[in-house]
Parts: sequence; structure tokens; C-alpha cells
Amino acid sequence: MAARKHDLIVIGAGPGGYVAAIRAAQLGLDVACIEKEPALGGTCVRVGCIPSKALLESSELYQQARSGLARHGIRVERVDLDLAAMLKRKDDIVTQLTRGVDSLFKKNKITRHLGHARFLGPKRISVQGASATTELEATNILIATGSSVTPLKGVDLDGERIGTSTEALSWPAVPESLVVIGAGVIGLELGSVWSRLGAKVTVLEFLDRILPGTDKEIASEAQKILAKQGLVLRLGVRVTSAKRKGERCMVEAEGLEPIECERVLLAVGRKPNTEGLGLEAISLALDERGRIPVDEHFATAIPGVFAIGDVIRGPMLAHKAEDEGIACVEHIATGYGHVNYDAIPNVVYTTPEIASVGKTEEELQQAGIEYKKGSFPFLANGRAKAMAATEGRVKILAHAHTDRILGVHILGAHASELIAEAVAAIEFGASSEDLARTCHAHPTLAEALKEAALGVAGRSIHI
Ligand code: FAD
Ligand code: NAD
Repeated sequence: MAARKHDLIVIGAGPGGYVAAIRAAQLGLDVACIEKEPALGGTCVRVGCIPSKALLESSELYQQARSGLARHGIRVERVDLDLAAMLKRKDDIVTQLTRGVDSLFKKNKITRHLGHARFLGPKRISVQGASATTELEATNILIATGSSVTPLKGVDLDGERIGTSTEALSWPAVPESLVVIGAGVIGLELGSVWSRLGAKVTVLEFLDRILPGTDKEIASEAQKILAKQGLVLRLGVRVTSAKRKGERCMVEAEGLEPIECERVLLAVGRKPNTEGLGLEAISLALDERGRIPVDEHFATAIPGVFAIGDVIRGPMLAHKAEDEGIACVEHIATGYGHVNYDAIPNVVYTTPEIASVGKTEEELQQAGIEYKKGSFPFLANGRAKAMAATEGRVKILAHAHTDRILGVHILGAHASELIAEAVAAIEFGASSEDLARTCHAHPTLAEALKEAALGVAGRSIHI
């Protein structure tokens, strides 16, 4: 049968792929999207951002009801956990959102193919479905196949007691003890979920700090707060093995006594999904970290083949994948399309949240860039006091001579929302003076941003 020809085939319906497909359709292209999972939305919607945030929200409410409400003068006699209901709420949200992507595809007349995509040539793809294989052709092909968990030698993943984030989003009972391997984003977010629900959580981290890549001062303040919440953080520890022992698990690490626990979560990073894609058929070589090399317009070395999201360089973040998808197809369709990598926020949804955009202090020091720093603690912010959420601070780094904002780092309640103002400021090339002279509603947490901006010039008012 002759292959059906499209203007664009997108492989993968994660936030990179599905957003790219919708934007391309808006621009008038005939688009097909191939996804091997029955539900659309990718890692982010099915087993990543969304279900983890649902559980973080629910577990935080449980924690508040158990011990946080008393300081507001609210006595709660008895708090029970209905874990099955909590998990069902999370699953319902995922179902609603994956179906939402389905209807967006229909609305935008995107042809959806269910099956595993493999290159037959630079413009030809085979789709291996459950019962048949189809061939498709396109002028342009966009690889948005995302990433999956990096395994660790010696750690025997069994999908039950020793699992990855995917399993840890659905454990049917709260483990009495949990060992998390890796104090990165997943380790701290999901470690927090199970700790709040009652597990004794020990996080083993290879480096001497948590959250590599985050501003060191902010990460170190967060580390103290998380430890106070009950997470046992063992740093400078290299895990060598995790094995099942009947109904228990045994974790071994250099320099530590073996730790026995009920469950293990492996969270030492993710790797790009390129296996089984047939890249050899188009002679597309990977870089040293297994990623697909692309230029600034997301073009690979093969004409007409593009790649975006977790499968290429840069932070593995849903919004980064989305912006790349849009820029890529806009460039294909119009000749213009751009992503500003200096203005991509990063958020860790612990309590308090950690959000940042731009350069860390360490990066500025390493690059020899002179900077000024303004810092303002939430302890001195009226709204934070009213909310009983006084932990953390806002830190603004601005160029020593031009005053242009180079980095903003927030540890505190709703940091994930507050960071949007900083992202807009960086996107528009604002100076700390611009932010300091912008009127902020009172009382709001956002006033801490204004105060930190004032602090860059040594003129914070409320401290
Ligand atoms: P993916 O979302 O991984 O989608 C790729 C899709 O391609 C998948 O659906 C896959 O099935 C499909 N696919 C792969 N190969 C083939 C093939 N050969 N044929 C057909 N289909 C194929 N990021 C954030 O920004 N915020 C968060 O809060 C956040 N939380 C996270 C929590 C967890 C637990 C995890 C694991 C990740 C989280 N992330 C978060 C990261 C985020 O999920 C990824 O950065 C994002 O999903 C990447 O998007 P993508 O489109 O590149 O790839
Ligand atoms: P990560 O890269 O954030 O952290 C992995 C950690 O494991 C690092 O601190 C690393 O030093 C440590 N490690 C590596 N080998 C080890 C060993 N042998 N023993 C002990 N520790 C070891 O990776 P992750 O937490 O798995 O997350 C993967 C990606 O998913 C992240 O990079 C992030 O981009 C994305 N993600 C984002 C969010 C968010 O935006 N809120 C949430 C979850 C995941």
C-alpha cells in the first residue's frame, strides 16, 4: 500500500511533541503524530509532572491537617489517610488531561497513529501497531521521543519493591521505610510525598550537596528545611547495590552500613529515548551522552529531520520541550522561531518550593562576571507571616555595571508562581532598578521580589 504523505510527522506526544503538532496544524501544515502509548501527553502528563504534583498537593494538605493547622488556631481531632482515594484523584486528573490532548488533536485535525515509530529513511517511517504495521511519509519529521529512567548498575529494579518514579506514583500502601537513591528533583519531590504520608525516608546522594545545578546557597538552605521536615539526607554516598530480600530490600553504599527498607526509589537521572527508532537507517549519530545533536533551529544533520525536548541537549523540562516544539515548527513553516535559554525557569515542588531562572552565583563566578546581589527573607514579608510560610528567601543577581538581572532564585511558598515575574523581567532585559520601581500589591509574597531588587542597590525598606 502506498505510504500516506504528510507535511510533518511528529514522533512522540509528550509536551514537546503534542504542542509542536498543534502549533504546526495552526500554521496550516498537514500533521500526523505517532505515539506508542494509548494515552497522549507523554511522561509529563502520564507519569511525570502532573501525577507527581497531584500527590505533592494532596500529601501537603494531609501534612497541614495533621500538624500545620494548629498554628492557625484550628484544632483537628482526627485525620485519616485514604490513600486509595488520593491515588484515584491523581489518576482522574491524568485521565482528564490525556483526554484533553486527544480532543485538541481532533480539533486541530492532527492524524493520530498508535504504535512504535521507526525510521525507514529520512522521509519514511514505519508504525508498528498492535496488529499491523503502517508506513508513513512526510516532508519533515520531528523526533520528540523524550527520556526514560537511567538505570544504576547493581540496583535490581523489580517494578515492585525497587522501582522508579513511575511505580512510586502508585504504591498502594505507605511504606514504613523508603530509601531514595539520588537527591535530585525526583528524589526530593517523591521523597517528600511519601515522607509526608508517614514513611521514614532516607535519601542517599553521591554528591556533597542536594539538587546539583541549583544555586548553592539556596540549595543549602533548602537542605536544612527538608532535614527538619524529617527527610534523612545522607550526602557524599555512592550507592553500589539495591536488592530484594523477600518482602524487604537491602541497599548498599560505599562507606555506609547496609540499609534495610521496605521500598527503594531509584532517581539518578533520565536518558534520551533513541533506542529502536531506526536512527541507523538515516545514519544519524548521537552525541557523547546519547542525545540527538541539533542546531539552533532544532535541525539534525539529516535534512528534514528535527528533534526537541528531553531527547536533545538542555534541561529535561516540560516547558522547555514545549517552547522548543513551537520554535521548531514555526521555523519550518515561517522561517522564524527562537527559544531564549536564559529565560527558562526551573522549579522543585518541595515545601517550600524552589524556583529559579537565569544564572546561579556559582555560574557567574565561574564565568568571571561581576555581579551585585540582593536578598530578602520571607520572614520579613507580611503576607508570608499571615500565611505562616516564612521560610526561605528571594535572591536576585544583577550585572555589577549594567544592573541587568542575570539570575533570580526563590526558596519559599508559591515560588513556582512568583518566578514568572522574574522570567518576564529577564525576557524583557529588565534591570534590578526596573523591578524595584515596579509597584507590587500589598500584602503579597511578590513584594519579596521587589525588596530583593531594592536590596541589589542596598536599599531594601523592610529589613
Ligand atoms: P516525553 O514527555 O517523554 O514524551 C515522549 C513521548 O514519546 C512518550 O509519550 C513516549 O511514549 C513516546 N515515544 C518514545 N519513543 C517512541 C517511538 N519510537 N514511537 C512512538 N512514540 C514514542 N518537568 C517539568 O517541567 N515540571 C515538572 O514538574 C516535572 N515533573 C516530573 C516528574 C517526574 C516524576 C518525571 C519523570 C519528570 C518530570 N518532569 C517535569 C520532566 C518532564 O516530564 C519532561 O521534561 C517532559 O515530559 C519532556 O517532554 P518530551 O515531549 O521531550 O518527552
Ligand atoms: P537529577 O539529575 O535531578 O538528580 C539525580 C541525582 O542522583 C543527582 O543529584 C546525582 O548526583 C545523584 N546520583 C547519581 N548517581 C548516584 C549514585 N550512584 N548514588 C547516589 N546518588 C546518585 O535526576 P532525577 O531526579 O532522576 O530527575 C530527572 C530529570 O527529570 C531531572 O533532570 C529534571 O529535569 C526532570 N524532572 C523535573 C521536575 C521538575 O521540574 N519539578 C521534577 C521531576 C523531574
